[in-house]
Amino acid sequence: MIRVGVSGAAGRMGETVCEAVTEADDLELAGRADPALDAPLAGVLDDCDVVVDFTTPDAAPQNVRECVDAGVHAVVGTTGFDLDALRTEVEGSDTNARVFVAPNFAIGAVLMMQMAREAAPHMPECEIVELHDERKVDAPSGTAKRTADLIREAGGNVHEPIHSVRLPGLVAHQEVIFGGEGQTLSIRHDSIDRHSFMPGVLLAVRKVGELDDRVTVGLEHLL
Ligand code: NAP
Repeated sequence: MIRVGVSGAAGRMGETVCEAVTEADDLELAGRADPALDAPLAGVLDDCDVVVDFTTPDAAPQNVRECVDAGVHAVVGTTGFDLDALRTEVEGSDTNARVFVAPNFAIGAVLMMQMAREAAPHMPECEIVELHDERKVDAPSGTAKRTADLIREAGGNVHEPIHSVRLPGLVAHQEVIFGGEGQTLSIRHDSIDRHSFMPGVLLAVRKVGELDDRVTVGLEHLL
């Protein structure tokens, strides 16, 4: 059994992760941390092998630091914080803990990013439109920023700005539109339910302890 703690357990993603962990035969929900539950992360770390963090851009880096200091692996879905700074810090630390970060845990979103990277050398001019529920605090989304990086690495020209739509009723959606002479190509992914992220989150929980690098970014590394 892998003992799993959930940080942000009272939030929309955190609650869904708690349900998914509870339903998995090989995982045990060992702790729920959230200010709304009056339960700090420090109080659950001793009982956990892995902590899943879906909190806020302000809280996530400190939560990861606490996990790493306690030798607990971290699976991070929170977006909007300075990942490079955290990576430098964790890689410079003396720890056996592993940190896995994914801006998007939905398999369809990973495929959307890979297909966009494949299209980029052939149709370099493109725009990204990302759409999320109105309570998402960061913009553009972590998924959009990672997609833009992948397209640029492949020789594409992502026009600025990335377009961010925030409306009630949305979950997580993104369209990458490539334009060439007399044609366009649209690659679109829609998460219409938060359960779309759960297979990816559980995969990361099961694999994070086996990763070679201290910090790994992107679900594609586990597939
Ligand atoms: P949410 O509903 O606002 O939940 C966040 C929860 O974290 C809240 O209950 C919040 O409590 C709690 N929290 C704040 N500080 C904390 C701390 N120090 N320790 C523990 N918990 C703390 O947000 P959400 O929709 O679940 O999204 C959470 C994050 O996941 C966002 O960054 C979002 O962009 C990201 N996300 C990622 C993916 C992915 O696939 N990677 C998918 C969906 C969402 P308070 O309300 O009391 O502050």
